[in-house]
Amino acid sequence: MKREETKVVHIGNRSIGGGNPIAIQSMTNTKTEDVQATVEQILALEKAGCEIIRCAVPTMEAAEALKEIKKQIHIPLVADIHFDYRLAIKAIENGADKIRINPGNIGDVSRVQAVVNKAKEYGVPIRVGVNSGSLEKHLVEKYGGVTAEGIVESALDKVHIIENMGYDNLVVSIKSSDVLMCIKAHQLISEQCNYPLHIGITESGTVLSGNIKSSVGLGIMLYEGIGDTIRVSLTGDPLEEIKTAKLILKTLGLRKGGIEVVSCPTCGRTKIDLIGLANQVENMVADIPLDIKVAVMGCVVNGPGEAKEADIGIAGGIGEGLLIKKGEMVKKVKEEELLETLRQELLNWGK
Ligand code: SF4
Repeated sequence: MKREETKVVHIGNRSIGGGNPIAIQSMTNTKTEDVQATVEQILALEKAGCEIIRCAVPTMEAAEALKEIKKQIHIPLVADIHFDYRLAIKAIENGADKIRINPGNIGDVSRVQAVVNKAKEYGVPIRVGVNSGSLEKHLVEKYGGVTAEGIVESALDKVHIIENMGYDNLVVSIKSSDVLMCIKAHQLISEQCNYPLHIGITESGTVLSGNIKSSVGLGIMLYEGIGDTIRVSLTGDPLEEIKTAKLILKTLGLRKGGIEVVSCPTCGRTKIDLIGLANQVENMVADIPLDIKVAVMGCVVNGPGEAKEADIGIAGGIGEGLLIKKGEMVKKVKEEELLETLRQELLNWGK
């Protein structure tokens, strides 16, 4: 199903599926048992635009900590559980808004049933996750290796186990670090079930390769109408995941708001530190609540023309730059004053 047709699932105060806005998720990398550090990280992620947060729950102490963490944050919290069904039950009792399990590693059916019963009692959705790395042997043999078809069959098997227990408050996620396999698996599963899909490219690597793999993989899926909530997985600061996720959604026109910075690639005509300036501008605009385009261009030869599409921009000269509005030059500004001049213009925008 395309995202307009998927089932609506409520995760705390947020709804995904059924055409609701695509929610951005991240995962803490603090020890969940450390309430203060975890809360601090979640609050920073919230501020950056994270809309659903997931925490690993590897111990009973972590499951207990959720109660305190929940009191201090404002976005839904997903408890990530592997192996021990008692952790899932405790996490739900302590306020988890969704749990993520792989029924394949929870143990026998009675344990999965116990988790499902508790989720049902609290109205908490279950994210059923499968990962290409842990595809069952019989599916590897059936499909002659790890394949998109095998991952999908594995995911649907898990979904059917829970459906047969009388519960359909589900979100499905299938993960593979192989971008093309991941895309194919999502295309297949979206034709076969109507649960909202949590999409992401797993183990995609450090900030550079992770951003590229995620942008390509998520970009294609989202463009095809697949995906109700996203997570960019990076081996890096989770804040980077949020920045990337927001940019992917914005680039695809799936999210509005915020200042878009366009900047030229620089060339032999550039006479100011444009790379440094563009980075500073990008950081500076992050907290300014305008929905406009800002151009940061390297020279006055092509800059003004290239910046015409932008609402406001600067074009570098020799030790100075031009302030441009809608392609019209407004004034000359010394290089060291360009950033602050632009900031003041933005803070007074529309006044
Ligand atoms: S705007 Fe000027 S400096 Fe930037 S790439 Fe174009 S010609 Fe080069």
